[in-house]
Amino acid sequence: MKKEPFVTKEQLDEIVKEYPTPFHLYDEKGIRANAKALKEAFSWNPGFKEYFAVKATPNPFLINILKEYGCGCDCSSMTELMLADALHFEGQDIMFSSNATPADEFRFASDIGAVINLDDFTHIDFLEKTIGRIPETISCRYNPGGVFKISNSIMDNPGDAKYGFTTEQLFEGFKVLKEKGAKYFGIHAFLASNTVTNEYYPTLAKTLFEVAVKLKEETGADIRFINLSGGIGIPYRPDQEPNDIYAIGAGVRKVYEEVLVPAGMGDVAIYTELGRFMMGPYGCLVTTAIHEKHTHKEYIGCDACAVNLMRPAMYGAYHHITVSGKEKQACDHKYDITGSLCENNDKFAIDRMLPKIDMGDLLVIHDTGAHGFSMGYNYNGKLKSAEILLKEDGSTQLIRRAETPKDYFATFDCFDILNDYNMK
Ligand SMILES: *Cc1c(COP(=O)(O)O)cnc(C)c1O
Repeated sequence: MKKEPFVTKEQLDEIVKEYPTPFHLYDEKGIRANAKALKEAFSWNPGFKEYFAVKATPNPFLINILKEYGCGCDCSSMTELMLADALHFEGQDIMFSSNATPADEFRFASDIGAVINLDDFTHIDFLEKTIGRIPETISCRYNPGGVFKISNSIMDNPGDAKYGFTTEQLFEGFKVLKEKGAKYFGIHAFLASNTVTNEYYPTLAKTLFEVAVKLKEETGADIRFINLSGGIGIPYRPDQEPNDIYAIGAGVRKVYEEVLVPAGMGDVAIYTELGRFMMGPYGCLVTTAIHEKHTHKEYIGCDACAVNLMRPAMYGAYHHITVSGKEKQACDHKYDITGSLCENNDKFAIDRMLPKIDMGDLLVIHDTGAHGFSMGYNYNGKLKSAEILLKEDGSTQLIRRAETPKDYFATFDCFDILNDYNMK
């Protein structure tokens, strides 16, 4: 499939007059259409709820759009919980799926009534000691180990992942939790990441549904929800076929009717905690080509760097790049597209065939809407960019300003640099 940016050169030329590059731009129209489709695809399940994985794109304006479609928040840390709480999500609309959890985060999650998803058997005692009780509603994260296969292909390696209870621990955990006063139970698992196949959720659902039936039989637990978590991927590469969320919803429904309904569990709610699927394609990083370098290779240096988008540097991830306005030109030049960090892995693309790039061209780096801005850091003292929303009517809204040196220096309480540069 040909990958086209959701923003035209004409629109970008206007936007950069107001906001200097680099910035992340988000597509309100795309976010809404996708959230609506997800809701429809699972409308067969009355309790269905998507808890948006806040870590993917922790921006209150974007989360509020998803809220209109009934989404809650899946939080992994104190500040994410604070963000969800500040956006007036009700406790039951906040899922707290964390690991190696600090006590004060459990305490805060409990205070705001979030649903706690325990990552480990030992967290049962830790939670009880921390908050003085076990909540009425509790969820456990399951890790069956081994490799996660669909047909014959290995999707991921749960046996190597730090998350979750083993099968034995899950059964024991439910018993212990029940004795300690838990009334309503949930099961959660995240067994493969960024899957671009309609089979992932139905395959995962089958595993979880079968375990749920056994758990109910053996422990008598009242299982209220099954959380399929994240993992539905997006086509980062042009040759990938996008997931069909309706086919995924129907696939989960089929196993639900095969496994849960006959076991008298036809009232169990399906939850999801999607991040990438909800936002990934609806964000892009816009950057300007500011240098060209002809040495052993051809380099284009741009004004964004790995601080703005870490995935290529961190895991060699592919992000498609469009030279804005040159969509129809032949890709007959081979470039490395680099940022300015003193790190040789600071490259958005290596040996990428693109149209001839001229200085000042705007590059659109696709699919940065999830795990893009949010993974950013401040290496080399580089500052994080702005985030801008391209609204449905074509206007723009600044939804996070760019960092300034004052932000960067703000944590040096003992050092007077802010005074020196009149930044106080
Ligand atoms: C990261 C994460 C998600 C979201 O994953 P995506 O790949 O963005 O869908 C959901 N749940 C948990 C617990 C996570 O850690």
